Amino acid sequence: MPHCNGGGYRDPSAVAAMRRTKAEGGWGVIFTEQTEIHPTSEVAPYIEQHLWEDKDIPALANMAEAMKSCGALAGIQLAYSGINGPNLYTREVPLAVSPGPILTFHPDPVQARALDKDDIRDLQRWFRIAFRRSQQAGFDLICLYGAHGFGIFQHFLSRATNQRTDEYGGSLENRSRFVREVVEIAREETGGEMGITLRLSLHEAGALGLSNAELRDFIAMNADLPDLWDLAHGTWHDCSGTSRFKEEAAQEDLVRGIKALTPRPVVGVGRFTSPDAMVRQVKQGILDFIGAARPSIADPFLPKKVEEGRIEDIRECIGCNICVSGDMTGSISRCTQNPSFMEEWRKGWHPERMRPKGASETVLIVGAGPAGLEAAHIAARRGYHVTLAEAGKVLGGRVAMERRLPGLSAWGRVADYRTGQIAPLPNMETYLDSRLSADDVLAMGAEHVAIATGAVWRRDAVARRHLAPIATDAAMPVFTPDDLMAGGGPTGGRVMLYDDDHFYMASVLAELLIARGCAVEFVTPAVKVAEWTENTLEQHFIQARLLDLGVTVHTSKAPEAIHDRGATLGCTWTGRASDLACDAVVMVTSRIGNDALFQALQAHRGAWEGAGIRSVRLIGDAAAPAPIAWATYAGRRFAEELDAPDRGDAPAFRREIAGLEPLPSLLP
Ligand code: ADP
Ligand code: SF4
Repeated sequence: MPHCNGGGYRDPSAVAAMRRTKAEGGWGVIFTEQTEIHPTSEVAPYIEQHLWEDKDIPALANMAEAMKSCGALAGIQLAYSGINGPNLYTREVPLAVSPGPILTFHPDPVQARALDKDDIRDLQRWFRIAFRRSQQAGFDLICLYGAHGFGIFQHFLSRATNQRTDEYGGSLENRSRFVREVVEIAREETGGEMGITLRLSLHEAGALGLSNAELRDFIAMNADLPDLWDLAHGTWHDCSGTSRFKEEAAQEDLVRGIKALTPRPVVGVGRFTSPDAMVRQVKQGILDFIGAARPSIADPFLPKKVEEGRIEDIRECIGCNICVSGDMTGSISRCTQNPSFMEEWRKGWHPERMRPKGASETVLIVGAGPAGLEAAHIAARRGYHVTLAEAGKVLGGRVAMERRLPGLSAWGRVADYRTGQIAPLPNMETYLDSRLSADDVLAMGAEHVAIATGAVWRRDAVARRHLAPIATDAAMPVFTPDDLMAGGGPTGGRVMLYDDDHFYMASVLAELLIARGCAVEFVTPAVKVAEWTENTLEQHFIQARLLDLGVTVHTSKAPEAIHDRGATLGCTWTGRASDLACDAVVMVTSRIGNDALFQALQAHRGAWEGAGIRSVRLIGDAAAPAPIAWATYAGRRFAEELDAPDRGDAPAFRREIAGLEPLPSLLP
């Protein structure tokens, strides 16, 4: 399935190499991300693809070639964003089906003007040119984007965004006219040589939205319009929900029965990672093809593993949407489960094949959280003799704890996949219940040591709002997420839950505390709860859930002091103080890396050589606490860089710099 990756036009070779990996992994059809067809519609600051001029063709041709390298069909998703494109980069006046404010993730103070009849002819000509260029670039399939609220085809079809009174508005037949005309142009322009797929939303919410019933009417009326119906639920937030809010195959009810309305095949998505769920949907006649974006990111080799019956080797997506956050932040996507995602070209990492080991023989990994497990797995796969020592009684570190929190059970797959992979490796020794000291590490004498000892949550409110501890009366019980995950913390009464972390943890603990019978006062200096989860498409769901559960939300507030019966809150705008009574406090603020073992080894540097130690690295949360994806990446990097040549002061990855155009002479 088409999916953004935060690299887009800026990182063409990185994106092409990422998609070549999927080709190798056995996918039948591979699509680009959203490719904008004309400068009058673009979605900066988000980084997608452009097909605005002939000079955009070579980058896309590279990608098509990479996609087709192992026999897959290559598809390009063509988009015109209409009411969804603010044109912050091109500065063109946005054109939409009907006029109105641009509907993006940010309330950009920009409105679109309505397409008049001449504009519609222009737009159809731009699509025609894009079809020609797509064919020139070597693609086999064209996907017309009209899903997630993002594409002009949906904007024409939906009464919410189409208030026209001409032949393109009003009845469903009229609203269908534009897409019918564009499909006809596509067939004409490509001489029937390219497959045309139509990606539409299964259900758009709201009284005027293109409902599931109306979508079915549209498909019945236009049964053989595209060569493939590609159906995806509602908004992007609905379609790509996290595992906390959406089950696998969550779109089944919306898509069931659509196949009977059309002779054309139907493809759908649903964060499919279980071959049983996939086979069931095909056998029951719900879908003809299984579509996947995130499962193909987490495991580009998923089809090959299914084909070869290696089900236990599938690296299952955990549904965390960290990949989405790379696009939302315009950086570059990363994947919690597959640290090689978007590093295939930049670093030469592969999801399945590892470089053979270098001259050294032995590696010791201390700590079996996501960083330690990944480091151990990859180092062992490279051929080193690896010893993994874990202080606790189970492998997994933080995910062994967090998987027991409400809605986070899928996160356990980070540990399960790696534990399963290392178990049969003969060059891997794993020790539980083994808290190592510096003397232990020196006595073990491995040539390379990774200290992946994790982090602990702070108790003193220090994070972003407070850079120093706040005054706290010892009579008030103050807990951290570590206390609650270990089974401690409040079991009733009024609890102030202070969130200056802004990711998932505080809201998950709010659910836990409610389940324990507590009244929860959620205090955050942000203007909404779990603000960073905008980047994982969850914020709306989280805020709604907390309100539904009866959590009292205090935004733009932070505790300035904790006293014996509550806290003094300060307004982040005015500084005005107010009192909040509570029986206990839970601080979800920041974490401190457990680097004591690393520091102790540094203090004994003189003893390393005698012990046979050549390097000691601090990795993962122990070095700098961050989301789980940062830890698996750190583990992979440690294992990849064993015996690697020193890159000196150069960046640790390859970069691609766009070719320079000549600088014109100065104006008179
Ligand atoms: P990360 O996300 O960086 O992998 P985690 O907190 O998930 O970090 O995992 C760190 C792991 O290290 C925990 O399971 C913890 O029990 C273990 N650990 C901490 N100190 C030691 C030590 N001295 N010896 C062995 N294991 C340790
Ligand atoms: Fe799945 Fe998370 Fe990887 Fe995205 S980042 S593909 S949601 S595991």
